[in-house]
Amino acid sequence: MTQLYRDLPSVDKVISAPEGQVLVAKFGHSAVVAQLRVILSQARQAIAHQQPFPRYLTDFSMLYKKLQHDLTALCQVQMRAVHNLTGTVLHTNLGRALWPVSAQQAALSAMQHNVALEFELQSGTRGHRDGFVSALLAQLTGCEAACVVNNNAAAVLLLLCTFARGKEVIISRGELVEIGGAFRIPDIMQQAGCVLKEVGTTNRTHLADYRDNINENTALLMKVHPSNYHISGFTQSVSEQALAQLAHEHNLPLVSDLGSGALIELDQFGLPQEPTPQAMLRAGVDLVCFSGDKLLGGPQAGIIVGKKAMIEQLQRHPLKRVLRCDKVILSALEATLRDYLLPEKVPERNPTLHHLTQTTAELEQSAVRLAQKLQEKLQQDYDIAVTPSLAQMGSGSQPEFTLASVAVTVAPRSGNHSDLMQLVRSLKQLSQPIIGRIEQQKLWLDLRSLASLDALLASVDEL
Ligand SMILES: *Cc1c(COP(=O)(O)O)cnc(C)c1O
Repeated sequence: MTQLYRDLPSVDKVISAPEGQVLVAKFGHSAVVAQLRVILSQARQAIAHQQPFPRYLTDFSMLYKKLQHDLTALCQVQMRAVHNLTGTVLHTNLGRALWPVSAQQAALSAMQHNVALEFELQSGTRGHRDGFVSALLAQLTGCEAACVVNNNAAAVLLLLCTFARGKEVIISRGELVEIGGAFRIPDIMQQAGCVLKEVGTTNRTHLADYRDNINENTALLMKVHPSNYHISGFTQSVSEQALAQLAHEHNLPLVSDLGSGALIELDQFGLPQEPTPQAMLRAGVDLVCFSGDKLLGGPQAGIIVGKKAMIEQLQRHPLKRVLRCDKVILSALEATLRDYLLPEKVPERNPTLHHLTQTTAELEQSAVRLAQKLQEKLQQDYDIAVTPSLAQMGSGSQPEFTLASVAVTVAPRSGNHSDLMQLVRSLKQLSQPIIGRIEQQKLWLDLRSLASLDALLASVDEL
């Protein structure tokens, strides 16, 4: 055994050989040494456990190949692109919205160049980083001004910290929602140091419930769009209009957390209507906040629109400095919003809206091509079929609403669950993994959430 240890090559010997020098020239001395040490320590482990000695330690040319391979892998980004065939268009675990081409280009330019982020080109004076987005949102939603932060949870926190710290916030019990992991309205209230005043009951809240709880300690009235759940039956909630009137009678602001924030009417595409920020502002809400990467279909951001004086207060709060967005996100958001100036073109240009509005006939064409390719590759071992499916908007939007969709289903002829899981594993091992969903002992590859058919077919070719 000691002889085996002694047979291990020394770091110096490996590095000083010509092949070692090639690696050092390419990756630098310290990375090559570090990687080599990893390999040698694995070898010592193998010796200690009396496992077979790795071949690359007796064959130097294999050792260099392994080093080259490991060092190349080290430089490869591990957060890989995947094909989303889950049927959930806005999949939080898969990164939500894909960016419009306009946003990609704007972001790339902002990455490569200095930009007039806080600089007025006309006057040469200092500008505001939210300025471009604010002007666009004024045009699109009728707001007076806007404030942009890292995400919508941050927007809610900033709102509460600015206007309600140490004071009471009145909110309906039916709207105390939890959204995704770890975003709960009561927790955010606590973080912001405000006192939650829940009124009404889970299913019914009346205007009088709000009115009876207003006192000298009240900071604001709040509405939260319970995007990810729905109660039906004997229910009652108070309209924004009535609530705004009540708030303003008492000189209080009304704020609304919309969550999704679709900027165009979705019912024109046969989708369920989502409340828009512009409708909320028209109803008299003072500040509305929503996400950038849900139904808006842009980069991750939290957007607050509304009254100028209040937006200015948000902008001055020290937390805004903590939560502000960088030039890349702000330019991508500006480009995403600019596409909304041509409303009829949004479903062509915005991937999220494109995915949601594709006809099942279009999806079927893609499904047929995918099924053919899979048939070629998997041959006789699997039953492959083009099947009607049900897709979802995702990220908590309209959880009960399902979109007619088309999937390719794949099931092992053997009927063995382990064969099905083997297929799932091999699809995940592709250079761009394919993610579907398992249902009824089949793998469902739903075409509604797919970004690129060509790229998908190329991936299947690797199988
Ligand atoms: C999604 C959502 C949030 C959180 O938004 P993020 O952008 O994910 O931080 C907050 N409130 C509501 C109502 C939501 O739907």
